[in-house]
Order: sequence, then C-alpha cells, then structure tokens
Amino acid sequence: MSQQTDDGRHEGHVAHLFADGMFGGSWSNGPVATTTADGRHLDPEEWQYRSQDEVVGWRVICTDLRTYEAPECWRGPVWTRVATPFEQDLDARRIYCDDPYGLDQEAIDLIMATDWKPHIGPVVELYAVGLAADEVAAAQRKLTAAVRVARDAGASWTDIGREVGISRQSAHERWAGKASAAYTEPFAGLDGGQTR
Ligand SMILES: [Zn+2]
Repeated sequence: MSQQTDDGRHEGHVAHLFADGMFGGSWSNGPVATTTADGRHLDPEEWQYRSQDEVVGWRVICTDLRTYEAPECWRGPVWTRVATPFEQDLDARRIYCDDPYGLDQEAIDLIMATDWKPHIGPVVELYAVGLAADEVAAAQRKLTAAVRVARDAGASWTDIGREVGISRQSAHERWAGKASAAYTEPFAGLDGGQTR
C-alpha cells in the first residue's frame, strides 16, 4: 500500500527489486516489474509478472503526483533480501522474507518509517508554512477591505494607523490608492515588503 503526503504531492510505496534492475509493485498474484532500471515506466501490456522468488530486495519509490505523468520523485536506499533468517540485519537494511505473499505489513512500515519519513519530513513542515502564508494573505485582504470601509465612513489615516499599530504615514502609504473596490492586494508581509 502506498502513502501520500497531506499536500497530495508525494506518494511513497515499497517497490520490489529484481535481479535485472527492474522494479515494481504487486498485483493479486505476486510482484510485477513495471519500471526499467533507468526509471522508464512500461505500458501495462509490457508489464512482467514475476514470482516472489525473483525479488532480490526492496526500496521506497516516491512519485510526484502533481502532474498526470507522475514522474519518480525519489528513490530510497536498497534493502537487500537475504537467504536465511540468521543473515537478517535490519540496521544494515538486510531483510529476510519467506512469506509467499512477500513482505508483511510490519516490514513495510519499518522501511517506510526508516526511509520515506525523512524524505518527506521537510515537505510536511513546508506544507504547514504554505498554509500559514495563505492565512496571512487572506487576513491581509480582509484588513484592506476593512480599511476601505473605514475610510468610506470617514476615518482618518491617523485613526486607521492607531488601530493597526502603525503610524499615520505608514497607513497612508500602505492603503491610499487602494481605495478602489476593484483593487485586490497581492500577498505582502506585515512590513509590506515580502512577495511570493
Ligand atoms: Zn517524494
């Protein structure tokens, strides 16, 4: 199963790796090679259905979902499949699997937590930054509209500046000329200097 980030941009899943360098996901009867070693996605009629025995390892593949083509965004390091349980060393990304259905959920969760979480960590935090910036922009538009109404009602720039906590001069520079109802304010920081 794949996981997506809240912004809908990144989708990570644990892919099967094959000895010839191809990789892919699962279908109902086992693993399927859907992508060549150099990252080219095969058309569905070219997919190669394989057995669990042919899986030599696993890695996280992250897909960029912003466009229809959904190009590969990032590849995690390889988890090598070992032949016996005694060779398993999860800290060294060596993993034993004898399940005919492939990795169990616990192993998949471990791989995702170890590799995908750090990859998307900045993305998750940046999403919060983007949301906060959108809220600031919306508040700026609300403030501009309120100033316009106050001016129409006869408030002076001194009065408005006092309410906002800035000088009469600053209030005038910021909003004079924005009295038209057709005006829409671009995003600006509180100092009026930032854009994005
Ligand atoms: Zn990604």
